[in-house]
Amino acid sequence: MTHEAWPARHRFFVETPLRVGAACSLDALAHQLTAVLRLAPGDAVTFVNGDGCEYLVSVTTLTPRHAAGEIIAVRSTHTDPRRHLTLYQCTLKQDKFEWVLQKGTELGVSRFVPVVSARSIVRPAAALRSKHTRWLAILREATEQCGRTRPPELAAAVELDAVTVPAGVHGFVAWEGAESAPGVDDAVAAVLRAAGEEAPPLALLVGPEGGLTDDEVRTLVAQGWQTVTLGRRILRAETAAVAGIAVLMARSGELDA
Ligand code: SAM
Repeated sequence: MTHEAWPARHRFFVETPLRVGAACSLDALAHQLTAVLRLAPGDAVTFVNGDGCEYLVSVTTLTPRHAAGEIIAVRSTHTDPRRHLTLYQCTLKQDKFEWVLQKGTELGVSRFVPVVSARSIVRPAAALRSKHTRWLAILREATEQCGRTRPPELAAAVELDAVTVPAGVHGFVAWEGAESAPGVDDAVAAVLRAAGEEAPPLALLVGPEGGLTDDEVRTLVAQGWQTVTLGRRILRAETAAVAGIAVLMARSGELDA
């Protein structure tokens, strides 16, 4: 079914297997479908569950408390990221951190790791557990909005000194003090050129509002992270995250049609 002919613009992420012809319960969405979206039986919504496809669900029953539907069509999408990018984001003030989660999802981040560093405001890492469910909801909403089918993964928060570059991953750390470091664009271009077809998964680490300490940067470099600059100006941490992600994803072809 063509994009134009797909009669459902409201997308919902569900954690269930989906199959054309199957009936499905929409009870969890009944209030939203009636009171917010003002849909009626016969209308349709889109379900995604991370398998790279969109499923057209025709609403068969709809009351404020109860709703049901039937899956009547499926189509594959090419919206999920092909280049695996992990963002290690040092924790920021709540709204800024959540902004990075939302924008990073739109730009194609595959995994987020909240990091507690020396100058992080919210600490220790365990104190962030209470935020996990809320952050997962933000990743799902951004997935539903931007056309992905698979939300990014959200790792448990870690202390910076426990952060290592996973095997086979090329890790960049954005550091405003990196006078002699390459720009992030040149750095990733060199990595992709050298790797050819076998381009590695990428990782980007961005500091907190107060920045990373020199010791922290030294430790990260010793663990294999490559320092990169994002230019001569000091960017706010959330700006640095989005700028860095955009360059890495653009170089990886993820911002192409
Ligand atoms: N250390 C500074 C301070 O004293 O206020 C600024 C920290 S900056 C607001 C927050 C984070 O954004 C930094 O830790 C770094 O990861 C990233 N960042 C900001 N500007 C950058 C630049 N020009 N190059 C590389 N990273 C940058």
